[in-house]
Amino acid sequence: MARVYNFSAGPAMVPDAVLKRAQEEMLDWNGTGMSVMEMSHRGKTYVSIAEKAMADLRDLMAIPANYKILFLQGGATGQFAAIPLNLLGDKKVADYVNTGSWSKKAISEAKKYCQVNVVAEPAKFNTVPEQAEWKVNPDAAYLHTCHNETIEGVEFPFIPETGDVPLVSDFSSTILSRPIDVSKFGLIYAGTQKNIGPAGMAVVIVREDLIGKAAASTPSVIDYKLQSEADSMLNTPPTYTWYMAGLVFEYLKEIGGLEKVAEINQRKAQKLYQAIDQSNFYSSPVEPNCRSWMNVPFILADSSLDKTFIEEAKKNGLETLAGHRSVGGMRASIYNAMPEVGVDALISFMQEFERTRG
Ligand code: PMP
Repeated sequence: MARVYNFSAGPAMVPDAVLKRAQEEMLDWNGTGMSVMEMSHRGKTYVSIAEKAMADLRDLMAIPANYKILFLQGGATGQFAAIPLNLLGDKKVADYVNTGSWSKKAISEAKKYCQVNVVAEPAKFNTVPEQAEWKVNPDAAYLHTCHNETIEGVEFPFIPETGDVPLVSDFSSTILSRPIDVSKFGLIYAGTQKNIGPAGMAVVIVREDLIGKAAASTPSVIDYKLQSEADSMLNTPPTYTWYMAGLVFEYLKEIGGLEKVAEINQRKAQKLYQAIDQSNFYSSPVEPNCRSWMNVPFILADSSLDKTFIEEAKKNGLETLAGHRSVGGMRASIYNAMPEVGVDALISFMQEFERTRG
């Protein structure tokens, strides 16, 4: 059976090479006679798999030594609560930039634990407000951004300068898409089901000095200090997701690391936006300077053709192109694992659809 090009926003495509390797290792990992999912998380074999995955991620993202990497359960949504619980300390306020649907969810969860100061919010979620316009609170415990809004397809074109206030950012849909300077952030977090592998974990990269201020009521499984001391194994972690993430990290290193990945991603995104901009039938709702490399929403000039577009795309092996139910239109998520030929196939299909139906 042929594999399709799956443009899902997440869970999303995993590189073929990684899936094949997992398949080869499924019944017998490295002569142990066990599948990785059958191993004790406390055993020497599994611990070596887990440690290698962490080390490879540190290497890939050039994560400085004074940052801890945590693999936690509860996805990125769990972090919406974990962040205020762990980082507020004796402060009462946190700053949030609202750039779209995922910022909004982070804000409403944070409101359970602190006073949220929304420092900026564009009238329409198709842009990132310039930092000069932000109304920050100098006494905020941290400033939160969603670096890439998965639904609206809006990506920060800059890393905010926040002085002594730690910058906390949701990288769920853009982590590993290109190199970033981790030292500019206090904390970076991401769900695993997009650029990392299967669903089931959140990766949290947190500067050491921010750890250890958790509120007494913080559940132990999301307490950064407890999890850091336990190497993210305070309880049984999602062992198979962790292993799969490790295979993805190894694969990304093999193909040339994040510089190489960024080169491919930029080319993929550029050609898709170019095809949209050059057509009179498709349009992008996002301002050019903050268009995401990973999630590309686009609109058909005649929305009555949306259903037909999706049905015909599916017949051509191009799946999951409907925009999020809250915004409509189309969205092509083109994460690392989407091969460039998949983007080429989408562009050809779009051009043919426009020629015959537009
Ligand atoms: N933040 C962003 C930017 C997302 O795209 C998502 C999931 N689509 C989430 C948070 C929530 O992630 P999870 O489902 O892993 O909790």
